[in-house]
Amino acid sequence: MGIVALRAANAVVDTWQQELRLAVRDAAQLVAVLDLPDHFLQSAQRAARSFPVFAPWSYISRMAKGDAADPLLRQVLPLDAELLDHSGFTADPVGDSAARIVPGLLQKYNGRALLVTTGACAVHCRYCFRRHYPYSEGPRSPADWQPAIEQIAADPTIDEVLLSGGDPLTLVDPHLATLADSLAAIPHVRRLRIHTRLPIMIPQRITDDLLDWLRGTRLAPIVVVHANHAQEIDDSVAQSLARLIDAGIPVLNQAVLLSGVNDTAAALIDLSRRLVDLRVMPYYLHQLDRVAGAAHFEVPISRGLELMAKLRAALPGYAVPRYVQEVAGETHKRVLA
Ligand code: SF4
Repeated sequence: MGIVALRAANAVVDTWQQELRLAVRDAAQLVAVLDLPDHFLQSAQRAARSFPVFAPWSYISRMAKGDAADPLLRQVLPLDAELLDHSGFTADPVGDSAARIVPGLLQKYNGRALLVTTGACAVHCRYCFRRHYPYSEGPRSPADWQPAIEQIAADPTIDEVLLSGGDPLTLVDPHLATLADSLAAIPHVRRLRIHTRLPIMIPQRITDDLLDWLRGTRLAPIVVVHANHAQEIDDSVAQSLARLIDAGIPVLNQAVLLSGVNDTAAALIDLSRRLVDLRVMPYYLHQLDRVAGAAHFEVPISRGLELMAKLRAALPGYAVPRYVQEVAGETHKRVLA
């Protein structure tokens, strides 16, 4: 039986909300559906206690059964390695708490402010730099956003607002459209950037309603997706990315350099080729943020630099992402290559 056929019996999955509701949240189910050896089960259950499993079926269906080294599975499978302490790996590796101005609003860089719109995501990436973020302290209802909106309105240097999270596209379109309207009413805000993994995880999320409000806002929208491996981008993902681009919305990709996922020249070159073939610009390759629980994903910067040299030799310049590192307290991302 195919992986998707193993979804809950009789489940009708024709909206992105249903995909989210039916996502696998149980380590045992993930191990079973992918036919992994039994010893993965105890490890996954232990590590999932602090950061639960969450993976939508549309993503799981792109994994190979019986292969614990599958690059998509590696991103979502909890391992005992997450429970080991490593010096230098912390709960807040990029200084989010120091950058919080009012609830839900972070400002790290000149001219830009970031709204942590929600703690919900369409997937739990084991390497997530916000896996320990205190989302429960942030705004929960549209009215709770008022202090953040007022703060942006009071600072005429802010001309770009980022919607981040969590994943902002887990919110419904009327809610997002209302938030965009509030930001568009501030004359000095010109651009709205949306950081999301939803188009990769659940491509159905690119709905007509989403395209309508993105096209309709006065703000210039930019969508930044997050794919780490070409295998993540199947035909359904390609079609959703095309819908965004055909609607006139620039789409960029950011990836994280991850041991066992994309730390080979071939994997990174394939990813860039797949993206540019779909008109998506490779934007950033991030050095891993040193978040507690993710040390086993770290690739040394020296290795990252070697990989970047190979990318540069193989690809046209526009297809080579910038290799960057975020350092808490610095006024811009550090460009490594
Ligand atoms: S989608 Fe982004 S915010 Fe959500 S778990 Fe993955 S890396 Fe973290």
